[in-house]
Amino acid sequence: MKITIAIDGYSSCGKSTLAKQLAATLGYSYVDTGAMYRAVTLYFIRNQVDIFHPEQIEQALQHINIAFKINELTSAQETFLNDECIEQEIRVNPRVAGTVSDVSAISEVRRFLVKQQQQMGKNKGIVMDGRDIGTVVFPDAEVKIFVTADPTVRAQRRLEELTDKGQQTTFEEVLANLEKRDYIDSHRQDSPLKKAEDATVLDNSHLSKDEQFNWAMHLIEQKLSSAGM
Ligand code: C5P
Repeated sequence: MKITIAIDGYSSCGKSTLAKQLAATLGYSYVDTGAMYRAVTLYFIRNQVDIFHPEQIEQALQHINIAFKINELTSAQETFLNDECIEQEIRVNPRVAGTVSDVSAISEVRRFLVKQQQQMGKNKGIVMDGRDIGTVVFPDAEVKIFVTADPTVRAQRRLEELTDKGQQTTFEEVLANLEKRDYIDSHRQDSPLKKAEDATVLDNSHLSKDEQFNWAMHLIEQKLSSAGM
């Protein structure tokens, strides 16, 4: 019996690290919905789509095909936009990080992606992370986790990630981007980032990856046994 696991929370909280570990352990598929919003943003940047022009947006969305594929050499999941691997670019391009929250606030974009996300999870056996998974995409998910952490801890982790990928940036720039995205994501009209009423909060400011993984597995086991599964 497979279930749906929804992981939401603030930017750079380690949601995807946790989601990937859970999916690998449970034999579930993993969907990084942030990558989908980043892919649309990259397409809009490259094609100079005016985000204040609804017709241009509708038109552009018809030409966007997003897929996830496993890289056979690294076993890592990678994001493809119209058959091009854009995994690296959507993570390090500062223009993507700078505009993704504005693009994600557009209702047409959300409708377009949420439909695909619901399709990907229709047979359960999925771990999905994002901002609206427990509230909008899968309000009936059996397990919902809302991840948070101190902003300076998050900025430090993100800085290390970007530096490892060869990106030159500063702690202040990274922190400012996180805070800006969190603000826009939580204040937009359509599907704002918020904790689902039945989600359990995980503050991982002082937890290691193993500790947060064990915490989540314990929660999943508890939920399954209380549901008699
Ligand atoms: O998860 P990640 O930081 O890669 O997400 C990038 C951006 O995509 C977020 O800041 C947010 O604006 C948007 N997003 C969203 N809804 C989701 C996932 C991501 O609005 N489910």
